Amino acid sequence: MPNPLYDHLVAPLATRGSTFLTDARGNEITGESLHRTAMSFAAALSGLGLQAGDRMAVQVEKTPEALALYCAAIATGIIFLPLNTAYTAAEVEYFVEDAEASLLVGDPSRKDLLSQVAQRHGARFETLDAGGEGSLRDRAKAAGIGFVPVARSGDDLAAILYTSGTTGRSKGAMLSHENLLSNARVLVDEWRFDENDVLLHALPIFHTHGLFVAINVVLLSGGSMIFLPGFKADDVISWLPRATTMMGVPTFYTRLLDTPAFTRDLTRHMRLFTSGSAPLLAETHQSFEARTGHRILERYGMTETNMNTSNPYDGERRAGTVGHALPGIDVKITDPETGEAVRQGDPGMIEVRGPNVFKGYWRMPEKTREELRENGFFITGDIGTIDADGYVTIVGRQKDLIITGGYNVYPKEIELILDELPGVLESAVVGVPHPDFGEAVVAVLVARPGATIDAAGVIAALAERLARFKQPKHVAILADLPRNTMGKVQKNLLRQEFVSLFA
Ligand code: ATP
Ligand code: MG
Repeated sequence: MPNPLYDHLVAPLATRGSTFLTDARGNEITGESLHRTAMSFAAALSGLGLQAGDRMAVQVEKTPEALALYCAAIATGIIFLPLNTAYTAAEVEYFVEDAEASLLVGDPSRKDLLSQVAQRHGARFETLDAGGEGSLRDRAKAAGIGFVPVARSGDDLAAILYTSGTTGRSKGAMLSHENLLSNARVLVDEWRFDENDVLLHALPIFHTHGLFVAINVVLLSGGSMIFLPGFKADDVISWLPRATTMMGVPTFYTRLLDTPAFTRDLTRHMRLFTSGSAPLLAETHQSFEARTGHRILERYGMTETNMNTSNPYDGERRAGTVGHALPGIDVKITDPETGEAVRQGDPGMIEVRGPNVFKGYWRMPEKTREELRENGFFITGDIGTIDADGYVTIVGRQKDLIITGGYNVYPKEIELILDELPGVLESAVVGVPHPDFGEAVVAVLVARPGATIDAAGVIAALAERLARFKQPKHVAILADLPRNTMGKVQKNLLRQEFVSLFA
């Protein structure tokens, strides 16, 4: 019986006697062994009465067993719903309730609160800890491995993955087997993954980047990975000699560059470094190349679509761009007001269409209608341009666009100039309410170590370079920018911080 993701991603593990995963302590786990654990979880889940189409919310540490649980969800047809380990019980409650989960799997250290959450919404609660043990594992051990995967079609849902909540409340993106499999195929091909690859995996596995981009690509290509519980520059440096590839968010790369032990010699054997989830500064791209000789390959995607564009494997990887539309995926730039295509090179809304585009937001039919056009194009909420060579550049998010005195201001245009000023490490530009202008431009800066920034000097420097309406009405200097686990700058928090500045 067919089950697209099981057949292509999970089944091949069953006969793989070689290492699939090396954990942080150096334990090697074969494909066969991970497959057995996955099938025992599948048997345990069906023993609990869960069926294909039911939702399983999972808030657990990153372990091989957590990965086996993902594989078990695929085999049973249970819809996988991974949750950020940083979420509080109150936050977890929103997802359990919203998704009408039948089962919540959580860390035993939070059993009291999480089991109450589950109980309030008619879900079961089981545990899985940072060592891969817990009540669910016990059930799995008792259940045996004789599980027969459930039949699924390409349109059946494999996961409901909630968005990061950067611009508002997280939305549940419904992702089908076809959505995930088509994207994994394209990425394996584009990035030349094969069974000889060893991916250094330091990303979280509750987000599309670490889960679908990284793990599905490794599973499909038959490669293996070094599976670290999180990112620590020293650990990454000590494991790098055994890896061939690494996927990261921009902060991984800036932190590696801050470590003198991260050298050209250390990376000489590496085949590929990729970056995504947040903008990689052109400066980071350049410093990385200067240090290592490697050009980071930046790509662009999101929870709702997996990956949409990528810089080329062969060919020019252009700093500050996210590359071309991936094969089989259409990317166009439209006027946010009219939905009409803009002139080549002009900024506008990035829209995407392809087999990767999700089935809609879980229980949000209106939001789905607003963002997913009948002709299949998804309105991403990101503003960007496409140049004559087809390279896409992201200018920012529509929600971060500032409208001041009736003029549109793209924060990135100002941030790029600010980042060049002496003493500036990084910057974020936001709009805050202003009685006369509607919104006012506020620049938030972080100084380089040891440097001091003079706010008046910054304003003077910008006066020569930017039209008056784009010039910040206030410059604030902070010790660092608020970021989430994926390294995304949380502009909503900055807006809140400065909301009454002009009130
Ligand atoms: P929410 O939709 O809940 O506000 P979110 O959009 O941050 O949260 P994700 O799906 O995790 O949730 O992130 C996708 C977004 O991340 C994209 O829409 C884009 O804004 C940003 N992004 C991803 N890759 C890149 C990249 N290479 N450069 C710049 N931005 C990127
Ligand atoms: Mg989003």
